[in-house]
Amino acid sequence: MAAKGKVYLYNSLTRKKELLKPSKKDRVSFYSCGPTVYWYQHIGNMRAYTVWDVVKRVLAYNGYDVNHVMNYTDVGHLTSDADEGEDKIEKAAKKEGKTAKEIAQFYIDDFEEQSKLLNIIPPNHKPRATQYIRQMIEFIKELERKGYTYKTKDGVYFDTSKIKDYGILIGGITAETIEAGKRVEVGEKKHPTDFALWKFSDKPGLRQQEWESPFGVGWPGWHIECSVMGSALLGKVIDIHSGGQDHRQIHHPNEMAQNEGYFGKDIVKIWLHNGFLTTPEGDKISKSKGGLATIKDLKRAGHEPLAVRYLYLSTHYRKPLIFSKDTLEAAENVYYSIIEKVREIKEKSGEFEVRDGKIKPYMDTFRKAINDDINIPQALAILHGVISDKKLNEAEKYQLIIDFDRVLGLGLDEVEKIIIPESIKKLADEREAARRKKNWKKADELRNKIKREGYIIEDTEEGYRIIK
Ligand SMILES: [Zn+2]
Repeated sequence: MAAKGKVYLYNSLTRKKELLKPSKKDRVSFYSCGPTVYWYQHIGNMRAYTVWDVVKRVLAYNGYDVNHVMNYTDVGHLTSDADEGEDKIEKAAKKEGKTAKEIAQFYIDDFEEQSKLLNIIPPNHKPRATQYIRQMIEFIKELERKGYTYKTKDGVYFDTSKIKDYGILIGGITAETIEAGKRVEVGEKKHPTDFALWKFSDKPGLRQQEWESPFGVGWPGWHIECSVMGSALLGKVIDIHSGGQDHRQIHHPNEMAQNEGYFGKDIVKIWLHNGFLTTPEGDKISKSKGGLATIKDLKRAGHEPLAVRYLYLSTHYRKPLIFSKDTLEAAENVYYSIIEKVREIKEKSGEFEVRDGKIKPYMDTFRKAINDDINIPQALAILHGVISDKKLNEAEKYQLIIDFDRVLGLGLDEVEKIIIPESIKKLADEREAARRKKNWKKADELRNKIKREGYIIEDTEEGYRIIK
C-alpha cells in the first residue's frame, strides 16, 4: 500500500499545526458537531459543513480511509448554549404545531438537500441524539459513580471543579476566571461553568420528548450527546473533532470534561474550529439576526450553489469570511470563468498526450498546500495557475483539474451540467411554458432576454437546449 500523505492540522487545543497520526494507521476517526434541527441551516452554518467536507476530501486524497460521524441534535439544546431557556426542538414544535419528530425530520431533510447542492459528501454515520438516550443514561451513571456529578432540583449536573484543566480549549480559563469576568445564571449550580447532564421534566407529561431514568423523568443535556455518540461510533480515540468557533467556549470544554470523567482523559487528539461567516461590518451571520438565506434560497434567486462553495473555499477555514452581494457576485464571476475555461480545455484534451514530468510539479505543490492545514486558497491559486500555464497542453491541464477537484469538489468533472446559470434555466422554462400556451409574443420576448444574457436557445425534438 502506498505511503499516506503527511497532513498537518492546526489543533485549537495546542495552538500549533500538528502532524496527523491516526490511531488506526490508515483509518481516521472524525467527529463533527452537527446541526440542531429545529430551523433551517443558513449560509453561515453551511460554511462549516463545507469546510469539514474539504477536510475529509483532503484526508481521502492522501490515501486515508475516513470514518466520519456527524450528529443531529434533536433534543436537549436549549435556546442558550448554557442551561437556560427552552428546548429548541420543543419550542419549534409548539410554534409550528407539529410533533418534535416531524420538526426534526423536516429540517434534517432540508439540511441534506442543501448539503447535496454544495456537493458535500454525506458522513458515514448520522446519529440522532434521541436514538442514544439509553447510552447517555449509562454514561451519566458512570460519571455519577465516579463522583463527577451532583443533583439540583432541576437536574443532574457535571461538577467542572473536578477537572483540573477545565476550559483549556479557550486558553486555560478556569471556573473562577469565568465567574469573575462574566455574569452567569448560576441558580443552584455550584460553579458557573457546571452544566446539565440530565434535566428533570417540571411536570412529566407536558414535554413531547422525555424519558424515564434512574435520576428522574427528563431529557439529556446537549453536551452529553456528543461524548456518547462519538465514543459509541468511533471508539476511545477520536483523531479529529470539528465544530464552529463558538463551540470553543462552552460545548467543547464540556465534552472534554465528560470524556475525562468517563475515560480518565480526553479522547480527542486534534480539535478543529472554523471561522465565522460575517457581514461586511464584521458581525457574525447568525439566526438571531433575523431571516437568513439558505443555499436553497440563493438557488431560487438564480445563484449557483457551487459558486457559493467556491466562495467558502476562497478564504482559509480558520479566518472569518465576508458574505455580501458583492463577495458572492465576485465569486460567481470567477467560478463561471473557471467552468468556461475547463469546458474549452476538456474539448481539446483528446488531442494531446500527458507528459508526467509536466504535471508532477503541480501535483506536488497542490498536495503541499492542502496538507498544510487545509490551505485551500493556495490550492485554488494553483488551479488558476494550471488553467493559464501556456507550457501545459490541454490533456495535462484537464488531468490536473480533475485530480484537484477530488479535494475542491467544484463539480469540474461535469462542467457541461453547470455551465448554464439557474436564472437562465428559469427563463428558458418560462419560455417553454409560453410556447406550450402558444403565447408566441411572450416566448420571443423571453428568447431575446436570454440572448441578451449571452445564451441561445435551440429547440430540438426532445425539447430545448441552451448554448452559451
Ligand atoms: Zn457537539
